[in-house]
Amino acid sequence: MTSLPKDRIRNIGIVAHIDAGKTTTSERFLYYTGRSHKMGEVHDGLAVMDFREDERDRGITISAAATTLTWRDHRFNLIDTPGHVDFTAEVERALRVLDGAVVVFDGVEGVEPQSETVWHQADRYGVPRIAFINKMDRIGADFEAAVSGIEKRLGATAIPIQMPDGSAETFAGIVDLVESTYVTFDEGTLGRDVAYAPIPARLAALSEAWRSRLIERLAELHEPLADLFLAEKPITASDLRAALRAVTVAGKAVPILCGAALRNIGIQPLLDAVCWYLPSPTDVGDATGTDPRDGKTVVRAPVDTAPFSALIFKVQANAAADLFYLRVYSGRLEAGERAWNPRTGERERLRRMLRVFADRGEAVAVAEAGDIVAVTGLHRSVSGDTLCAEGQPILLEPIRFPSTVVSIAIEPKTSGDRDRLAELIPRLQREDPTLRASVDPETGQSLLSGMGELHLDVTLKRIEREFGIRLGFGKPRVSYRETIRASAEGSATYQRQVGGEPLFARVRLRLAPLTDQGGRTEVLDAMAQGTIPSAYLPALRESVANAAEGGGLYGYPVTGVSATIEDAAFSESGQPEIAINSAASHAFREALRAAGPIVLEPYGRLEIHVPEDYVGVVMKTLQQRRAIVLDTGFARESAVIRGVAPIGEMFGFLTALRSQTQGRGSYMLEPLDYRPLPDNLTALHHDKLIG
Ligand code: GDP
Repeated sequence: MTSLPKDRIRNIGIVAHIDAGKTTTSERFLYYTGRSHKMGEVHDGLAVMDFREDERDRGITISAAATTLTWRDHRFNLIDTPGHVDFTAEVERALRVLDGAVVVFDGVEGVEPQSETVWHQADRYGVPRIAFINKMDRIGADFEAAVSGIEKRLGATAIPIQMPDGSAETFAGIVDLVESTYVTFDEGTLGRDVAYAPIPARLAALSEAWRSRLIERLAELHEPLADLFLAEKPITASDLRAALRAVTVAGKAVPILCGAALRNIGIQPLLDAVCWYLPSPTDVGDATGTDPRDGKTVVRAPVDTAPFSALIFKVQANAAADLFYLRVYSGRLEAGERAWNPRTGERERLRRMLRVFADRGEAVAVAEAGDIVAVTGLHRSVSGDTLCAEGQPILLEPIRFPSTVVSIAIEPKTSGDRDRLAELIPRLQREDPTLRASVDPETGQSLLSGMGELHLDVTLKRIEREFGIRLGFGKPRVSYRETIRASAEGSATYQRQVGGEPLFARVRLRLAPLTDQGGRTEVLDAMAQGTIPSAYLPALRESVANAAEGGGLYGYPVTGVSATIEDAAFSESGQPEIAINSAASHAFREALRAAGPIVLEPYGRLEIHVPEDYVGVVMKTLQQRRAIVLDTGFARESAVIRGVAPIGEMFGFLTALRSQTQGRGSYMLEPLDYRPLPDNLTALHHDKLIG
């Protein structure tokens, strides 16, 4: 069985502001691409995967991270881009694995604040885009205004390749400026039947003007077309398509289409445009990563003959089996073979591989460069991990699990659910490595920690709704830290007789503040060679690191400090590790005491969208919550407030915002850094001070 040529693969996402029509457009994509025809995607001789009934019932595809569609001999892997801004790692990872995006705009609202956020994220990842101005049937829909919004507000070079015939109730069809045809969609077949006709005379002059503008703009960006244009040679549809493809893939311009997804208008031309203008994995080129052995940069070409490499961009906990979604960047791997996970240092067998379609999953025998598949059977891998050829390792994404900033105590309402919850938590963590579970040492309660109040809220709701475990929970709490502002030294001696043997250790170290207050504490040593036997050095350094992590004088983890071991001595009799550990942690505390520790609290980056009228009241609330507003802007009727805020002060803010704005405000808060707690609030922590 020959595999599908890579230039026929499109890994795409649909991104949009809430309510612009992303869901409707995605559903129409699934509807028109049907899947009665079986081309390319099913490898010969393989039975359709036998999903268990309950798996089918649960509708794994409803929430599938990637769905495969077939359109005009192309395979589209439609990657779900989470709209939820609280899970930034997830949004960014989705943007990372897609090669191109369809951005849906509301034809009435045009560019909305949230579309700016995703647009700039896509800019950062260099994702080529085409835009779909949806809802042209709505009163007030204005194609030109939307196009100019994309230019002005998003700073893009917009190239309309269609022109709507009418708007609102007169919206009847679309002029295809590339082909110079008039396209209509048959209501009787829910838009399945598309008619292509000559442009009606009443639209001739207008569409000629739009087409000239299209050619002029393209000629500015694409030399071969400029040559034709200047030589006044005839320009064909295929010349235009080649030029459009080149400038879109290069990220120089954005083709603009229009339609009304709900009225089944404009979807097929949009699907065509994905084929014509968005890049294939081959266009995207080499993937870059690092060699985990030496940290050097390595690249992998998107070809089957290169060493295997893939990124796990999403893990979905399902009732029956967890699904791991892989974007394969290079090489190929057959179902049942093993791949290497450089983070865990383990081999993982890709037991079953499947492709998820609108209605079911189908087994595939092999995963090839450029493609996206879901696999089952992985044990230790989590979202964000790389899988690769063992002898030729590569890390595609830096291993960066940001530390959690908010925790909540949880308890199942029925004791029978205790075991189920204990089983479920690790699965949720595979899906979302920013979640942590622990036990509160003071109360013995189970704690769930994450990136924010909303993050935990969504997770708790899921546990209840999807897995049927009813939970009782406490109030969310932020995780504090401790650091120092000045350098100081501390030393400690441990001396004791244990079982007749003398135990002795002495440690002297120096603490100094680092610029990144919330960053991990560094342990260095400045001892002359031979001060202590080198075999004990790792144990000594680890003791210091553990002292920092275990908590400082307030009991919070010590961060943003460099600890330099200046001198050490110990007796090798008995169990020297015990003595070293005790002396190191006492010396650490002494130095901390001498430096005078301060408490840090987590801050988040804040972005609020509210109708202009509510700005005053929201600003006042923000002030009460110690938020710092950095800038405000206006976008149509909506104001955008950006700033930073202490995460602990923002608990309950969403509810407050909704009630203050009649439900019209939205906000996001993303962990940013740690900053000193004001003195009056630090005083509240004094009872925790040790010694
Ligand atoms: P999403 O939030 O971006 O996923 O948007 P949805 O697809 O859920 O659409 C939001 C609302 O707009 C729904 O009520 C849709 O029925 C409606 N809608 C979507 N597309 C169109 C369209 O082309 N015309 C009109 N008039 N309404 C639409």
